[in-house]
Amino acid sequence: MNTPDSVPAPAAPADCLFCKIASGAIPSAKVFEDDQCLVFMDIGPLTHGHALVIPKQHVRAITEAPLDLASHLLDIAQRVARAQVAALGAKGVNIVTNDGELAGQTVPHLHFHVIPQYPDDQHVWNWEPHPYADPVHAPVLAAALAGAMP
Ligand code: AMP
Ligand code: ZN
Repeated sequence: MNTPDSVPAPAAPADCLFCKIASGAIPSAKVFEDDQCLVFMDIGPLTHGHALVIPKQHVRAITEAPLDLASHLLDIAQRVARAQVAALGAKGVNIVTNDGELAGQTVPHLHFHVIPQYPDDQHVWNWEPHPYADPVHAPVLAAALAGAMP
């Protein structure tokens, strides 16, 4: 469920890396900023031009973001992706956010990765689909999700 805008966000952890980048206490290669968000280059890029879009306010992850903030970040991520196509010659772009350690989130401050892809880059996603063992699983899971939608 989205956090209503009237509910104040939980206090940021004092040692949050991306809060420090948002405030300028830790430097970053800045691409763009406005009153709500900052875009900067990922220090460990998967491909050339890999950028991060973060909110300036501390939000742990996408499932805890107010809808208007999430929408704004996605709007900015879309613009960054278009810039990667226009300025860097990207032929495809992945927009990804990891929510929780198990999902690969290493910095617990919401961020969208905007990752350009090029025909000749060496990057490959380790994305291995595994079909359901029983065809009934998909509709059963769909029903469970449908009943739990906030
Ligand atoms: P995630 O694993 O989804 O939480 O992504 C965190 C990302 O933050 C990784 O891709 C890191 O390379 C990146 N990162 C960590 N520290 C910095 C930093 N100081 N400046 C820019 N990017 C960083
Ligand atoms: Zn933070």
